[in-house]
Amino acid sequence: VNYNKKPIYNIIIENSYDRLAEELKALGAENRKICIVTDSNAGSLYSQEVADVLKGISDQVVIFTFEAGEENKTLDTVRGLYEFLIMSRFDRKDILVALGGGVTGDLTGFAAATYLRGIDFIQLPTTLLSQVDSSIGGKTGVDFDSYKNMVGAFHQPRLVYMNISTLNTLNPRQYFSGMGEILKHGLIKDEHYFEWLIENMVEIYEKDPEILEEMIYRSCVIKGRVVEEDPEEKGERALLNFGHTIGHAIEKYMDFKLLHGECVALGSVAAAYISWKRGYLKEDEFLEIRDMFVGFRLPVSMESISLDEIINTVKLDKKMDRGQIRFILLKSIGNAFIDKTVTDDELREATGYLCREI
Ligand code: NAD
Ligand code: ZN
Repeated sequence: VNYNKKPIYNIIIENSYDRLAEELKALGAENRKICIVTDSNAGSLYSQEVADVLKGISDQVVIFTFEAGEENKTLDTVRGLYEFLIMSRFDRKDILVALGGGVTGDLTGFAAATYLRGIDFIQLPTTLLSQVDSSIGGKTGVDFDSYKNMVGAFHQPRLVYMNISTLNTLNPRQYFSGMGEILKHGLIKDEHYFEWLIENMVEIYEKDPEILEEMIYRSCVIKGRVVEEDPEEKGERALLNFGHTIGHAIEKYMDFKLLHGECVALGSVAAAYISWKRGYLKEDEFLEIRDMFVGFRLPVSMESISLDEIINTVKLDKKMDRGQIRFILLKSIGNAFIDKTVTDDELREATGYLCREI
């Protein structure tokens, strides 16, 4: 990935951690201190293996583990990490390694962006969502009080290395949550990819390694290209918010009991619904999209919710642009655009659709 002003970094997709030491060596990471930052789940499964690999290039490898869960993506956890780094005498040339899902990646990236005004970090994402989404693009941060991702920084990793065999230990609900973002990638940018996902549904269910590799690769290319053109979200990057405007509102409304990708699925169906009602999508295309989410065990309907509350939350969302919601709609499957004219009535009808019996 080549970000205009930033150095190029590699995104490696592998089936093991065998090539990790070699990749780090190529970055000049030898004999620098390395801190593996991980949560209690990913850590208990993989931190020892990763530490053993890294000990091949550095004799100063330490591990910082925090309790798993979004509720720990906080400044308190970052504070604990700063203390650990100071105690371990980490300086400007040392390295953080994020080993885990999006929570770990966001938190580690933020600590790396701020510790001593910025040190190197690499991403070893272990959830499907973090492999195709959060580990790429350089957005880092933590939650603050009840505000998600309220405090953060743009800080690009030096390397993203994914071992896709780690997906075998992920629980099915988490796995399919990641599919929510993957389907979004096809919908906003690549019709052929969307069709390919339908054709390979069985292999994706079975986690066929070759299909997973191709899927993760294609999703990373889509996310990478969008971010490359617009690293700080001044325009084009907003397309990645497809399904997220209503999705985030539902996520909050449900008090985070639904997973992120599940809310993205609901939000995507609502956005596709508006695209259909406006005459951009044909009815059968809209239904194909809806059924695609069902096929990947994602929700497309929910119990009744307060439409007013959802709409108010949407309006408070940071995607507002001078009072107008920046909403992402589909011109066709594979072709999304930013629209600032979505009305309250359209939001109400689309959200209402999600609460219908289907
Ligand atoms: P997560 O990091 O909480 O991981 C989900 C669960 O899976 C956790 O319990 C974790 O411990 C566990 N886990 C991780 N890897 C595992 C493995 N291989 N086997 C078994 N269990 C494993 O959540 P997530 O869904 O990966 O990421 C969500 C976070 O990502 C949110 O905080 C969201 O804000 C953030 N995010 C960031 C960006 C970005 O651009 N920075 C984009 C999307 C999402
Ligand atoms: Zn998302």
